[in-house]
Amino acid sequence: MTESAIYKNILAGAGQQGDDNKEYKEAYLGDHIRFKMKREGKRFWAGDNISDYLHEGDIEKLIDEATPAFEQVLDSLLIDRENDPNSKGTARRLAKMYFNEIMAGRYEHAPDATAFPNDSADRYEGMLVVRSELRSMCSHHHQPVAGVAYIGIIAAEKLIGLSKYTRIAQWCARRGTLQEELCNDIAREIQKATGATDLGVYIQATHGCCENRGIMAHSSLTQTTVLKGAFKDDHGTKKEFFDNIKMQQEFSPR
Ligand SMILES: [Zn+2]
Repeated sequence: MTESAIYKNILAGAGQQGDDNKEYKEAYLGDHIRFKMKREGKRFWAGDNISDYLHEGDIEKLIDEATPAFEQVLDSLLIDRENDPNSKGTARRLAKMYFNEIMAGRYEHAPDATAFPNDSADRYEGMLVVRSELRSMCSHHHQPVAGVAYIGIIAAEKLIGLSKYTRIAQWCARRGTLQEELCNDIAREIQKATGATDLGVYIQATHGCCENRGIMAHSSLTQTTVLKGAFKDDHGTKKEFFDNIKMQQEFSPR
């Protein structure tokens, strides 16, 4: 089926709500979802979350669709996937790995972060700094990014569980990212979950695209910082944040 025929099919059923995938059995599900996102002006870059466009069971279908596409890539690389025992099944492994692991943060909804009130007379007013280990992938080369994020907030009227900071950070990281963007994404999502306006995110990470190829730098480290509210404007708060990071690094050097 040509691309325009697929879109015609999709348009024919466009007004129907509910089980709207039923209409498109003939077409690729990936085409249908991409068309819908384009029609609604939804950005679907490598670092964007598109979970609102997926229904239950879609990931399995998308993995089925991606498998022959990865087979084609292996064929183009002139790898004998029929006789090489290590390359048999690699296409499917790649498809599953992209959807379920290294890019899972694109397809899953934000982690549940139950908020607890922090509004009594003895509310916590200090700084909270959480160290979160990150695994990500650069969207330029699909090479691994490994590092840690330090997330600091001065709590507002609510608090979230300590593990939630890391869950949110990892949800942002498990996509195709740029470290600069990732730092912004984590700050925005932590702000959303906690309501805090005073916060900072500092990431240090190594990048496979600088280590395994290109400049082959084996000890390079990239640092990015996003500061908001008092973390940005108040020298004392900013210093406390970075002093906290240094203490954390003494406790657990990366
Ligand atoms: Zn890269």
